[in-house]
Amino acid sequence: MDPREKRLFILISEGGLVLLAVFIVVAWYLIAPRLGEFHPDLPGFIGLLAAVAFGVVALGLGLVAVSAVTGQRVLFSQRITATVVRILFPLVLMAATILGIDKDRVKRSFIAVNNALVGAGRDTIRPGKLLLLLPHCLQATSCSHKITGGLIENCHGCGACVIASLLGLARDNGLALVVATGGTLARRVIGEVDPSAIIAVACEADLTSGIRDSYPLPVYGVLNERPHGPCRDTTVDLDSVREALHFFAEGRTAEARTAAAH
Ligand code: SF4
Repeated sequence: MDPREKRLFILISEGGLVLLAVFIVVAWYLIAPRLGEFHPDLPGFIGLLAAVAFGVVALGLGLVAVSAVTGQRVLFSQRITATVVRILFPLVLMAATILGIDKDRVKRSFIAVNNALVGAGRDTIRPGKLLLLLPHCLQATSCSHKITGGLIENCHGCGACVIASLLGLARDNGLALVVATGGTLARRVIGEVDPSAIIAVACEADLTSGIRDSYPLPVYGVLNERPHGPCRDTTVDLDSVREALHFFAEGRTAEARTAAAH
C-alpha cells in the first residue's frame, strides 16, 4: 500500500473537523436563546462543554496524524485512537461525499492510516497468537471443499486458488488461519482464537468495518485483488501478507530486546 495514501484520510478529517465546528456553532446559535430561558448561564455552559469536546477531538486528530505520519506512538492508549477514529470516520465519509471523492479511495486511505497506527503501537501488543483472517471469496468457486470456520485443513492444497499458499505461510509462521463468510463468523472466530493481533485480508468495505468493529484489537489490513469482480475468485498479493508478518515480527523482536534490557 502506498504510504502517501494516508494523506487523504488526514486531509479530509481536517475538513470534517471544520464541518463539525460549523455545525456546533450554528446549533449553539440556534438553541442558545431557548437555553437562556431556563437559566442565563446555561448557553455559556453548554457552549463551553461543546468547545471542550471539540478541542478533545481536534487534539485527538492531531495526535493520530502525527502518529500515522511519523510511525511513533504519541497516543498512550489504543482506546483513545479508537474513539477518535470512530468519531472521525463518519465525518470523513460525509465530507468525501460532499467533495465528490470516491469512497473506496477514502477507505483505502483509512486502512493505510490504521496500519500506520498499528505499527506505531506494535510494541504494546500483548504476546499471543496472530490470526490470519481471510474472506471466503479467496477460495476458487470451482472448489467443493468446505474450508470456512475451523475447517481450513479441508483444503487439499491443489493451488487453484491462493488459499494453499496462505495456509503454507500460516503453518510456517505459527499463525492461526480462518476463512470467514462474514462479519458474524469473523467475530465468533476472534472470540474463540483470542488473538493478540489480526492480519485481515478483504475488500475496502469489509476491512474498514472489520477494523472499526475490532478496535482496540490491532488489525493490519491487506486489500484483496478482484480480477473477476467483487466477491468472486479474488486473490491477494502474497508479498503484502509477508510484509504484514514481518511488520509484527519486528515489533516482537523490539519487545524482546526491551524485555532483555530490563
Ligand atoms: S487451494 Fe484449497 S481452497 Fe483453493 S481450490 Fe485448491 S483445495 Fe480448494
